[in-house]
Amino acid sequence: MEISDIQVDGYERVARCRDEASGLHAIIAVHSTTLGPALGGMRMLPYASEDEALFDVLRLSRGMTYKSAVADTGLGGGKSVILGEPGTLKSEALFLAMGRFIQALEGQYITAEDMNIGIPDLEVVSRETRWVTGLSKDSGSSGNPSPYTSYGCLVGMRATAKEAFGSDDLTGRRVVMQGIGAVGGPLAVLLKEAGAETIICDINEERVNQLSREHGFTIVDDDQHLDVECDIYSPCARGAGINDETIPQLACQIVAGCANNQLLEPRHADALRKRGILYAPDYVINAGGIINVSIELFPGGYDEAISIERVDRIHDSLKRVFAISKMENIPTNEAAARLATERLAAGRVEKA
Ligand code: NAD
Repeated sequence: MEISDIQVDGYERVARCRDEASGLHAIIAVHSTTLGPALGGMRMLPYASEDEALFDVLRLSRGMTYKSAVADTGLGGGKSVILGEPGTLKSEALFLAMGRFIQALEGQYITAEDMNIGIPDLEVVSRETRWVTGLSKDSGSSGNPSPYTSYGCLVGMRATAKEAFGSDDLTGRRVVMQGIGAVGGPLAVLLKEAGAETIICDINEERVNQLSREHGFTIVDDDQHLDVECDIYSPCARGAGINDETIPQLACQIVAGCANNQLLEPRHADALRKRGILYAPDYVINAGGIINVSIELFPGGYDEAISIERVDRIHDSLKRVFAISKMENIPTNEAAARLATERLAAGRVEKA
C-alpha cells in the first residue's frame, strides 16, 4: 500500500492511497481539525479521473467543517472518496485496505456512511481501524442517522416558522415535501403528528402510494409540486432544486428541508430573500444526523437522550443565523457561513 500526500492550500491534510493488491484508489481530505477530529462520510463513485475525485472530496470536507462548526458538535471537517464502480470493485480486501488507510491518519479523520457505502462495508473497515462511526446500535454505535436528521429538520422548521410567522406552531400549516425517502418519510410523519397538512411527492410511485395509504397524505406529481401554494416548501430529495427556473415558481413563504446543496448557486439565497421567502440553510437544518453521530465520540459513549437534547439546539442555531441575517442585512446562507467562521476563529484562539 502506498500513501502519499497532496498539498492543497487551506487543508490540513489531503492523502491519497493506492493499493494494488485490493485495487483501492482513495483520497482522504482533512479540511480542519480546529474544533475537533475531522468527521465525514466515505463515498464510492466511478469518478472519471482523480482530479474529479479530488474536487469532490475537497468541496465536501470543507462543507463538513462549516456544518459541524454551526452544529457545535466539537468536530472538524473531513471526507473520503473511493474511486471506482461500487458494483464491481467492492470487496472485503478493498474495505480492509481502506481501514488501514484511515488508521494511518491516527484519528485525524473519522469516517461514516455516505453515497454507495453501507453499514456492512463500514463493519469491514472497522476491523482495521477504530475511527469508524455510524455502525449499528447493537454494537454500541449510534446507528442510522436518518431519523435524527428528520427530527432535526422538524425542530428547524419550527424555528423558521417562528421567525416568519411569529409562532412555531405547525398546526394547520401546509407543507409540500419533495422526496420521502430515508429522511423525508419520517419527517412527513413527524409533520403530521405536529398537526401540519402535508403534501408529498416522490418519483418512486410505490413509496409515495404506500406512505399516503398509511398516513392519508395528499400526493402531488413531481412536475406540479412547485405550483401548490403552501407555507413551507421542504426539499428532501436532491440538490440544486432552488435555482433561476424554480424560484419564480415557488408558492411558499419558507424553504426548509433535509436535502444537501439545495441552492444551485449561493446567489440563489439572495433571490429567495428578494422574493420574501425565508430560507433555512440546508447544512444548518439537516445537521441532526451528524449531531447524533458525534455523541458516539463522547467519553461515556453514545446516549440517545444527549443526542436529542443536542439536536434540539438546531432551533437556537437557526435563531442565531436569522438574527445575523437581519442585523447584517445578508442572506441566511451567508449568515450561517459567518456563524461558522466565528466559531472556527474562537476555536483557533482557544487552541493557541
Ligand atoms: P433517499 O435516497 O433515501 O431518499 C431520496 C428520495 O427522493 C427517494 O425516495 C427518491 O425516490 C426521491 N427523489 C429523487 N429525485 C426526486 C425528484 N426529482 N422528485 C421527487 N423525489 C425524488 O435519500 P435520503 O437519505 O432521504 O436523503 C435525501 C436528501 O437529504 C439528500 O439530499 C441527502 O444528501 C440529504 N441528507 C440526508 C441525511 C441523512 O441522514 N440521510 C443527512 C443530511 C442530508
